[in-house]
Amino acid sequence: MTGLSGKVVLLTGAGSGIGRATAIKLHGLGATLAITDVSQEGISQTLELCGGKHYAQTLDVSKQQDVENRVAEIVASLGRIDHVFNCAGINPTAFPLTDVSEEYYDKLMAVNLKGVFSVTKATMPHVTTSRGSYVNVSSILGVRAGAEYAIYCATKWGVIGFSKAMALELGPKGVRVNVVAPGYITTPTNAGVAKGTDDAIKEMERANSLGRMGTPEEIAAVVAFLMGDEAKYMNGSVVEVDGMMK
Ligand code: NAP
Repeated sequence: MTGLSGKVVLLTGAGSGIGRATAIKLHGLGATLAITDVSQEGISQTLELCGGKHYAQTLDVSKQQDVENRVAEIVASLGRIDHVFNCAGINPTAFPLTDVSEEYYDKLMAVNLKGVFSVTKATMPHVTTSRGSYVNVSSILGVRAGAEYAIYCATKWGVIGFSKAMALELGPKGVRVNVVAPGYITTPTNAGVAKGTDDAIKEMERANSLGRMGTPEEIAAVVAFLMGDEAKYMNGSVVEVDGMMK
């Protein structure tokens, strides 16, 4: 991956899982990071794992005014924003639609979809000035369906529609917008991992052509590729990183 050394990258949801692994990857490539997450403990740990010398503050992406304030603070502190990794999200819990509450619906929409909108809107002037890029996190459930995951599917299909429209709008300004769609990844809130049973993990492994779950580092590598110079003709792409689910 070339072209990321010295670039300023804002990451959301970087206090755990895929966001944290991506922060570590980008730190290794010489980027300057704005590490954000709703969890104070999460960002402190990620900051430490990234050498301790980056910007790191809490940010709840579902609160638009907080997003705008934080983005202004990041630009004041780091001078620019080149790339954004919209990773913050709530992984799904399986519910038959009849059991889905309005509260659950609103929460998933507010974080998984509106969060991507708010962060994109607030950062757009800066990323446009830098002619940088966005990588937004959808899911394999953003390109296919899963019974009992209707609301999560709606948010993650929404991320893809939003990203493709943004790619058309920002492409002429020299900004690329791409999507990574992970399959089952070994993070603390993955549905199978969260169940905490061997059976749940085995079920996920059996559902995969490679016979295993993916790692956060395997997603981070693709995110860094999408931001870097090697992907400079990729815009509006959705990269499925799922080991081919059956
Ligand atoms: P994770 O380990 O739970 O990390 C997600 C991080 O986002 C957590 O630190 C969480 O903080 C934070 N967060 C939650 N709500 C937030 C908010 N309102 N504002 C800012 N940060 C917030 O999960 P992950 O598996 O790495 O998930 C990262 C992204 O990948 C999500 O968008 C997820 O839907 C997507 N994804 C994951 C998988 C998978 O199998 N793991 C598959 C497909 C897609 P708290 O822990 O304090 O809530």
